Amino acid sequence: MNKYDSDIIKTLLLDEDFEDVSTPEEANFVLINTCSVREHAEKRAIGRLNSLKGLKNKKPEVIIGVLGCMAKELPDLINHPVVDFLAPPDSYRNLVKWIKAKKNGLIPEYKNEQYSNIFISPNNISSYLSITRGCNYFCSYCIVPYSRGYLRSRPPNEIIKEAENLVKNGVREITLLGQNINAYYYKGVDFPGILKKVAGIKEIERLNFLTSHPKDIPLSLFDVMAEHKNVTNYLHLPLQSASNRILMRMRRGYTIQDYMSLVNKGRKILPDLTLTTDILIGFPGEKDEDFKETIMAVKKIRFDQSYMFAYSERKSTLSALFNDNLEERIKNNRLRYLIEVQNEITEEKAHALKGKELEVLVVDKAKKGGKIGKSKNGKIIIVNGVAKIGSSYIVKINRINGWVPIGEIKKEV
Ligand code: SAH
Ligand code: SF4
Repeated sequence: MNKYDSDIIKTLLLDEDFEDVSTPEEANFVLINTCSVREHAEKRAIGRLNSLKGLKNKKPEVIIGVLGCMAKELPDLINHPVVDFLAPPDSYRNLVKWIKAKKNGLIPEYKNEQYSNIFISPNNISSYLSITRGCNYFCSYCIVPYSRGYLRSRPPNEIIKEAENLVKNGVREITLLGQNINAYYYKGVDFPGILKKVAGIKEIERLNFLTSHPKDIPLSLFDVMAEHKNVTNYLHLPLQSASNRILMRMRRGYTIQDYMSLVNKGRKILPDLTLTTDILIGFPGEKDEDFKETIMAVKKIRFDQSYMFAYSERKSTLSALFNDNLEERIKNNRLRYLIEVQNEITEEKAHALKGKELEVLVVDKAKKGGKIGKSKNGKIIIVNGVAKIGSSYIVKINRINGWVPIGEIKKEV
């Protein structure tokens, strides 16, 4: 979401004849887009700000702005020695004026902001496209509804226009974004409805969406995925915990039984579904038994990949009031164990691809040679041989490096 927001900001600035440069030293102003979801993300951003002290001393005229959720959640950041202004998530239309006027302080936000009529310029053949902003769910640990505000759904015609514009500019893969994308609703159009409309743009070769909340996935979503060849058979479905007691305290609105039944239905309709998840370990009051239930569920469900985090207390959330916070040591030990269990599964799943032939869209250059490709069910494959970005190939997987499948081109599709 922040990457997409950074593209919105870039588009707004380039439209006003600003230019982007590759290092802070060349810049007249530096903008740091930030995330507040965990303390770790905040610490990294503060480290980044600290590292700009030398630049600010040498070049006091350089303007430095903090953008995003930290600008909203941590107003004291304005007192940081390098910071000139704070721009929270719905303030970006005011940013240009602010920079031009060299104003300091907190930039005011717009109400109901959706950045609807801003069409980002894509950087390569894959692009994000945000269809909702904010979230209304107030899971007890989560800062998002406070920092990004309530749920707003973008009108379908604006979404289609932006998708068509991306395609016109060479994009072949689009990932629709929303904190809780299945809550999308605009005048009778729900999420399966908008997915269908975007999938109807035939130049889109791969259409992905993030993030799905288990409590509001309609079964018709799997049917839309099955019916449209360009919709990737990939679902990111955060579980968070498999203990019903903890899920209740998290205010997630589903049980592990609901979750399993959804996964089983999805896998029945889409047998090659790639399933990934988020797991939050060490929530206040999580007992050994709760943790074991999560480990058992991870082993049973066999996610293709998990994004695993230790609980971090966030100001203003409900769980910050709970008084049974776990020791860091316990959270970290549990997290380490969970990561070991998941890594083994991820590796086994990757090895199961050895010898298989998959249709792969080449999306980018890989850092260590070869190209990055995406299979039709969202698996990342390193493609060796002469492969053109934007073209599709049948690729035979001949080895696995860690858990990254590496393949050779058989033929162009
Ligand atoms: N909308 C998504 C999640 C968005 S936040 C959903 O409903 O699942 C991304 C992930 O960050 C979450 O899935 C959760 O695992 C993690 N997260 C959120 N708040 C956190 C906190 N206070 N401490 C640690 N991890 C957190
Ligand atoms: Fe946060 Fe997701 Fe819950 Fe919304 S649904 S409050 S974004 S975890």
